[in-house]
Amino acid sequence: MKIFKERIKLSTEILKNKGLSFIPTMGGLHKGHISLIKKSKKFKRKILVSIFVNPKQFNKKDDYRNYPRTLNKDIKILEKLKVHYLFIPSYEEVYGFKPKKKIYLDKTSNKLCGFFRKGHFKGVVDVVNRLIEIVKPKYIFFGKKDYQQLYLIKKHILKRKIILKVIECETIREKNGVALSTRNLKLMAKEKKIASNIYHYLKNIKKNKENRFDSKMINKFKKKVLKLGADKIDYLENYNIKKMVKEMNINKNTKLFIAYFIGKVRLIDNI
Ligand code: AMP
Repeated sequence: MKIFKERIKLSTEILKNKGLSFIPTMGGLHKGHISLIKKSKKFKRKILVSIFVNPKQFNKKDDYRNYPRTLNKDIKILEKLKVHYLFIPSYEEVYGFKPKKKIYLDKTSNKLCGFFRKGHFKGVVDVVNRLIEIVKPKYIFFGKKDYQQLYLIKKHILKRKIILKVIECETIREKNGVALSTRNLKLMAKEKKIASNIYHYLKNIKKNKENRFDSKMINKFKKKVLKLGADKIDYLENYNIKKMVKEMNINKNTKLFIAYFIGKVRLIDNI
């Protein structure tokens, strides 16, 4: 695996290739990331993974500072997976140039995580736009675990007419149902159990197609989530995933979106 820290050196190297498969990450690699990489192998292109903890998408300095960083372990994982290129740029390498394309932020970026983490999605679309201009991939891989992020990036790519295929990857979960996340590294066993119970509770709500998402019922669901051990809930909503709008009824186009805290750890999921 060739490791690059400078965008110019990376560009020169990858010019030789016809268009790569690209998996942007913030490191702290786990089975969720690994599933994206494994999926990319089916596309028969050289594989490039980036690791960049993007300060612009953190709305709290502390959260950025405390985000888990496990670079040495990540490199070993990527080598084992036979990834061809790893890009680990500095802030300057990512933000020290003017991108050709302006970012497009769909109006739904103010909802859900966008409402509770001001500036988060602007930071996400900005960094992905820049990384795409550096890497010029043919395929880019994102997880449905961060569904709103995936939705907004797809909108940006479409609106700015970027020639690139977005490959959507299923959410990978622990045996206990909890969606894998780098932030899970911060949870103790007891807290993981809480997250697991919350997952199973939401799964059951979803199963019962009679459930309605009016404000009275949402309050009832939220109360139960708090009772199960969540310390705070940012949101719990039923959303149509094609349009990213609230919906009262559960159907094949809806998912339950949740963001909640266990202690200081903020977890998100869609079920
Ligand atoms: P991150 O390093 O958290 O920015 O994530 C990098 C990519 O991995 C994003 O496209 C995420 O949606 C994806 N990802 C993270 N966790 C999971 C998971 N549990 N299952 C599938 N994809 C995931």
